[in-house]
This record gives sequence, C-alpha cells and structure tokens, in this order.
Amino acid sequence: MFVRAIEKDTLLLLLEMGKSSHPYEYMVMLGAENGIINTVYPIAGSEASEDAVTILMDMIPLGMNLVGTAHSHPEGPFLPSNADLATFSESGSTHIIVGQPFDENAWQAYDRSGQPKQLDIV
Ligand SMILES: [Zn+2]
Repeated sequence: MFVRAIEKDTLLLLLEMGKSSHPYEYMVMLGAENGIINTVYPIAGSEASEDAVTILMDMIPLGMNLVGTAHSHPEGPFLPSNADLATFSESGSTHIIVGQPFDENAWQAYDRSGQPKQLDIV
C-alpha cells in the first residue's frame, strides 16, 4: 500500500504516547486505509524492544493493513539509529519516530531504507 498521509488524531496520539511513556521508549505498529495511517496497534507483551517488532512483523501476514512502525526517542533527535534502520528494512514501508519535545513538529516519517518520507497530515 502506498502511504501518503496520516490522520491528525493518530499523529497526536503517537506524540502523546511519547510524552506519557517518557523516559522509556515505546513502539507500536501502524495501520492504514486508502494510503492514510489511521490505526495504532500496541505490541502486546513487548518491552518496546525493536527486535520484538521485527519478530512480530514476521509472524503477521502483511495482507493486514499494517504499513510500518512508530516509536519514540525519549532523549535523542528523531533520527533513525542503526537498529532502527534494520527494523525499518524488515517491517513495512513507513516508519515514524517521535522525539523531544513531542510537539507537532517533533516527528519524522522514514521509508524502508531510512530516507525521510513526506506524509501529509489530514
Ligand atoms: Zn529508534
């Protein structure tokens, strides 16, 4: 699925989760309809480990509307780490990182190769 946008409420939820889980990192999976991210799937039982996400994505048929991941960087900038790049390449087309100060500008979407990706907010 080509992902071109995120619903504003979903983006605000991702930012709020970053704030509320601070100082810990959170990680969720993202679902989309018609190219618009509109669903957040908590990862049951995970300790926000990026390995856990990769394993989970392997187990879930991608016929579902999963399109990627979102996670927080509690302290750092919202640039993908090497571990993030490995996760991105294995788990969908669109990945969002939120960071300090968790306001509406404190996020970036990336594609599978870790390049910044433009998402409209709808
Ligand atoms: Zn990260």
